[in-house]
Order: sequence, then C-alpha cells, then structure tokens
Amino acid sequence: MSALVSSLLGNFAARLSIPSASLRDLIPSIVLAVPKSRTTHGKKRMRMSNKGLKNREDIVPCPACKAPKLLHHACPACLAKIDKNRAEVLSKP
Ligand SMILES: [Zn+2]
Repeated sequence: MSALVSSLLGNFAARLSIPSASLRDLIPSIVLAVPKSRTTHGKKRMRMSNKGLKNREDIVPCPACKAPKLLHHACPACLAKIDKNRAEVLSKP
C-alpha cells in the first residue's frame, strides 16, 4: 500500500517537476493515515450487531378486507376496488 502511494506520489511529482520529498511535505498527514491496530473479530461483530434487519411492526391487516397494509396508509387492494368501481360508473352514459 505504501509502495503504491509512494509510486503515485513519485509520478505526480515527476509530472509537476517537483522533488517527491517536498511534495510529501505538502500533503497533509491525514492522506497517509493508517489504523493504529487491527479491528478484532469480536469488536467487529459487536459493531455489526446493531446493523441486522429488524422485524417490521408497521404492517397491519386492513379493517375492511383483512389484506396486509402499511399502518396509516390506504389499503392498495381496497383502492384498486374503488378505482375499478369509479371507472365503471364513469364509463356508463
Ligand atoms: Zn383493504
């Protein structure tokens, strides 16, 4: 990794015709930051424990047709039925 960074810096410095040592001084140290120690398996698992999928509690049965629907949303099955009825009523002369 550091070899890649140094080669990239060398290419960049050669393109700009700047000596690589002075370019390395110009770049802030955060660019070349590396972790102080490796993340252990247990530490990683502890961090990931809160990222799992949760059970949804906002899906409830529709009071009219008992089909599952989102809480505080109109039932798509009932809306389709209403739209179909409205289209039939509007198509009649
Ligand atoms: Zn419904």
